[in-house]
Amino acid sequence: MIPFNIPPKVGTELAYIKQAIASDKLCGDGYFSKKCEKWFEDSFNTTKALLTPSCTASLELAAILIDIQPGDEVIMPSYTFVSTANAFVLRGAKIIFVDVRPDTMNIDETLIEAAITAKTKAIVPVHYAGVACEMDTILAIAEKHDLWVVEDAAQGVMSTYKNKALGAIGHIGCYSFHETKNYSSGGEGGAILINDPKLVARAEIIREKGTNRSQFLHGIVDKYTWQDIGSSFLPSELQAAYLYAQLESASEINDFRLSLWNNYYTEFSKILQPAQLPHIPNDLKHNAHMFYIKLGTSEERAKFISFMKTCDIITPFHYIPLHSSPAGKQFGEFIGDDNFTTVESSKLVRLPLYYGMPIKIQQEVIKRVLEFFS
Ligand SMILES: *Cc1c(COP(=O)(O)O)cnc(C)c1O
Repeated sequence: MIPFNIPPKVGTELAYIKQAIASDKLCGDGYFSKKCEKWFEDSFNTTKALLTPSCTASLELAAILIDIQPGDEVIMPSYTFVSTANAFVLRGAKIIFVDVRPDTMNIDETLIEAAITAKTKAIVPVHYAGVACEMDTILAIAEKHDLWVVEDAAQGVMSTYKNKALGAIGHIGCYSFHETKNYSSGGEGGAILINDPKLVARAEIIREKGTNRSQFLHGIVDKYTWQDIGSSFLPSELQAAYLYAQLESASEINDFRLSLWNNYYTEFSKILQPAQLPHIPNDLKHNAHMFYIKLGTSEERAKFISFMKTCDIITPFHYIPLHSSPAGKQFGEFIGDDNFTTVESSKLVRLPLYYGMPIKIQQEVIKRVLEFFS
C-alpha cells in the first residue's frame, strides 16, 4: 500500500527527546521550546513566536487576542479546515464565507471588500497547499477598514510571499505541526507568530492561563497573578524537542518535497490542462505542502480514487466546504456567489507526497495516474 502521508522524521528527534527528559524540565517554555521560538523569529523575521499545542489552539489564542466578541464578523474562505472557523465561533463570532479563486483555491481577494460590514473584525486568509494568498491586497483592505489579519498558515511553513514568510505578514500567523504537515512536533503541535509588537504582552498572558507568569519568569514582576482570560496554550518540551530536530533540517525537508512536487508537475503537465493543476503565482515560493489534480467532475474523481485504490495507492480528497456543513449553516453565511468553492473542491484530489518518499514509489504513482488518464 502506498500511503498518502508518512510523518516526517530526520533521525535526530530521539536524541533531543532524551536530552529533554534528562533535563528534568518537561513542561512548556523549556530549552527546546526557546530554541524553536528563536528559530522562527530569526528565520522568518517576526516579533515573537510562541509554540502552542496545535494550529487549532493558535487560532483560538488569536481570536481571544484580537478580542472577538459575540456578533462580530470574521471573513474567511469556506474551503478550509473546521478549526479556521471554530476558533472564532467559540468567541461568538459569525463567520462570513467568500468564494475562492479556482487557480489557487485561496480566498478571492477581489470579493473581500463587498463582504465587509460595520461588524467585521478580521480577515483570515488560509494559504491553501502552502501557496500564498494575495496578501498585499488583503493587507490594504484591512488597513482601509481597520481590520485584523490572522493568517491560517497551517500549511505554509517555509513558503514566502514577496520574500516574506507566510505567517509573518498579517498581525498574527498560525502554524501547524500535525503529522500531516511539512514539519511535525511528534504528531500534534503548533505555533503562533505575533507580528504586531503591541500584541505580544497580552498573547503571553492568554497563553499562560491568563496570568503574567511569563513576566514573573523574566523578573519583570515579583509575583504572578490572574490578569485576563486565558487557557493553557503551551506544548510539552518533548514536542518541542521533536520539532527542533526537524527545524534544523528544514531546508532539506523543503527541497526534498519540492523535488517530488516538480516531478509530478512535469509529468502531469504533459497530459492535463493548466486548470487541472496547481497554479503558483509570481512573486512567491511555495513549500510543496501538497500536490493535487482536478478531475472533470466529482463522479470522475470518485472513479479516479477507486482506480488508484485498486493500485494500492491512497489519494484522498478533503474539506467539504464549511458553508454547506451543519455547523457552517448555523454559525456562518456565504456572501456573494459560490461560483468556485463547491464545484472546484468537488473535483480536487491529493497525491501521496511526503519527506523521504522513495523515487520508485513516486514513479509508481505517476505511472498509475497516467494509466488512468489514458
Ligand atoms: C491542519 C490545519 C489546521 C489545524 O491544524 P492542527 O495543528 O491539527 O490543529 C488548521 N487550518 C488548516 C488550513 C490546516 O490545514
